[in-house]
Amino acid sequence: RQEPLGPGRLEQALCQAPDVDAQMSQLVGLLELSEDERRVRHLLVTLFQEVFTEFFPGCAVVPFGSSINGFDTRGCDLDLLLDLEPTKSLQASTRDALAAGSGSGAEDSILSDIDLAATPVPEVLELVAAVLRRCVPGVRRVRAVPTARRPVVKFCHKQSGLAGDISIDNRLALLNTRFLQLCAEADERVRPLVYAVRLWAKQQGLAGEGGRRHAQRGPARPVGGRGAALIPSPPGNPSGGGPLLNNYALTLLVLFFLQTRSPPVLPTVARLHDLAGRVSLSICLSLSPPSRPLHVAPLCWCSSQRHSAPGDEDRTVVGGWDCSFPRDVALLEPSTNTESPCKCQAGVWGGPGIPTLPSPLVPAGSLLSEFFHTFGDFDFPGQVISLREGRALPLPPPTTPEASEGLKLGPLNLQDPFELSHNVAANVNEKTASRFARCCRDAAKYCRSLQYRRKSSKGRAWGLTRLFQPGAVEPGAASAGAFLISIPLEAAGDSQQLCQEPSGRGPWFWEVCAAIAFVLRDVLKCSCAAGKPPRAPREESGLPGDSALSEELPMGTDTEEPSAAELPAVGSKRCLPEAANGTALPGGKRPRTNVPEETASWSCAIWHRVWTGRRRVRRQLQHGDGPEGPDGDSLELEQKVSEAIVRQEGAGQPLEPLLRFQASARAAGTRQEPRVLLRLVPSPAPPGALFRDFFHFLQSFLPTVVRQRLGRGPAGDP
Ligand code: ATP
Ligand code: MG
Repeated sequence: RQEPLGPGRLEQALCQAPDVDAQMSQLVGLLELSEDERRVRHLLVTLFQEVFTEFFPGCAVVPFGSSINGFDTRGCDLDLLLDLEPTKSLQASTRDALAAGSGSGAEDSILSDIDLAATPVPEVLELVAAVLRRCVPGVRRVRAVPTARRPVVKFCHKQSGLAGDISIDNRLALLNTRFLQLCAEADERVRPLVYAVRLWAKQQGLAGEGGRRHAQRGPARPVGGRGAALIPSPPGNPSGGGPLLNNYALTLLVLFFLQTRSPPVLPTVARLHDLAGRVSLSICLSLSPPSRPLHVAPLCWCSSQRHSAPGDEDRTVVGGWDCSFPRDVALLEPSTNTESPCKCQAGVWGGPGIPTLPSPLVPAGSLLSEFFHTFGDFDFPGQVISLREGRALPLPPPTTPEASEGLKLGPLNLQDPFELSHNVAANVNEKTASRFARCCRDAAKYCRSLQYRRKSSKGRAWGLTRLFQPGAVEPGAASAGAFLISIPLEAAGDSQQLCQEPSGRGPWFWEVCAAIAFVLRDVLKCSCAAGKPPRAPREESGLPGDSALSEELPMGTDTEEPSAAELPAVGSKRCLPEAANGTALPGGKRPRTNVPEETASWSCAIWHRVWTGRRRVRRQLQHGDGPEGPDGDSLELEQKVSEAIVRQEGAGQPLEPLLRFQASARAAGTRQEPRVLLRLVPSPAPPGALFRDFFHFLQSFLPTVVRQRLGRGPAGDP
């Protein structure tokens, strides 16, 4: 069974890297499919091919999308094309033969009374769905979606845990998959950059499952229109249920960005078109001696010079769109761009056959931060992003015969590299587009901070890990004075319960709230009273302005309210907090008023510096005897550590607390990756260094100890 890497494990692995460049180079290895996972996918494709061939003789099952385009991640879906064209041809020739009185009909076949070529797509999809349901072992939850822009049959495979789509008419996707693959092969910087941007966007709630669903449905429809009800908001979508970008669109944005560097990292699609059909020297030399003299260009020669042309497969037209580009990466000219997403060793950089880069390399992580910088200031509604030309076209786009006619313009205009009338981001609304730009600006700012560039000596999140924390650099971070802590819950245990509950509501949220209250009160010795939800003082940030010189960059502010689907139900748990409307929740009863701000909240005060010197005290306690020894309960140990620190301070309860803050929690994340966001608002604002110090301790301590309290976190020393 293939599980995505849990947020905790990814963070742990990246935090151990020596610098941000190393984080970047490790990222792909941590996220990509393992060999075993690839084998499972291959086996499934073979199984599907065997079963479908029984019913649709001659058909081909062809994988596309992230399983093979070079941007695979653990647990990514399996996109398949069921190519029925050969079956249709076979059917036609059989019919002709029957009409001519030769040959015999296939009475037993499900095709005996169906003419595939004349059957409407929804009926063919139902047929495919029926074959899947009845004849492919382990396949569950089969569902035809005929209304999608590209109609599909969805399925899950029980044993592998894979979800997948089968389309019957999506040849363009095969071509754009190969195009993405070519770009991934062309330069070693492409994959790390795409992985980083995809994960960042997912964690900021800018891309994900919702993006796929919306993009497949095509352009956004008016709010309240017929389409709106068909598309439920995924729980945890911070855009309030708004449509998200899908991974294909995000990848195109990165590729476009790489085309526009100076000098370019990737060629434009127009340039690739010119290279199509040529044959690389390496292929020429491996051929048997040619019958005619070869015209050898610097790296390639033109196939039009030959009778048989190995480069012919490069020239393809699908649905009237010219999809010609080289299939062989060796045909691409090496990039002379030396910008760095990560420090690569000499000889590794540049892709197969591409010379290594001159050294010394430019500053680390520059491409990633430049990506954020570029799109933070990008005029999305006023231009069309054209990968074909490798530049942003002004509006309205030129209407050359093969260009942009029919392109649906919107708040984000991203032209498909081949289907030029298709805006890949047509589903994105104004809110998501401007959120994307704001998140880019915040991320660009974070990339300038020391916290991004320098490994934390105190075990705090730094570099890419911080960038990948949900909401870590969300819009408004520099102006709202609130601090966010994300508590990821493993996609097992309680999340099973979460999955069974429609719209993600359930007592699990209150379990987590009770655990948070336990950690604050019992472990860290805070006063912790149920209180009103905090409001961030907007006029005071107390956060570093330009963080270039600052060690710490603030956690972002959670400016978006949760959508109704995100709101948790109320349950009865150990330490009940209060509903945001101020209504106490005795006995776990749900308040009658269903206010959208429903969150758990507390007024907290901390009296002792329980966050300093913990490691030393812990070590001392572990060397002693008793329940706090190495085999003892680690929660109990943490309580003892705090008590020891309080005792060391010696003066009893001080008159005034060291710090006061309001805390509020809300459910977020997805069914697969549920999490709780804890928002802290210090009082008074702006907070001083002491609060920051406490906050950064809490940021790494709280999620671990809360998960231990819930009984599903990794055991051990937090
Ligand atoms: P992942 O499954 O990891 O999200 P993916 O690239 O497989 O990434 P899907 O949404 O599954 O993304 O789409 C599968 C493939 O279908 C894409 O790789 C792309 O080839 C094609 N595709 C997806 N969305 C679009 C779109 N909006 N326009 C054109 N082609 C698309
Ligand atoms: Mg996919």
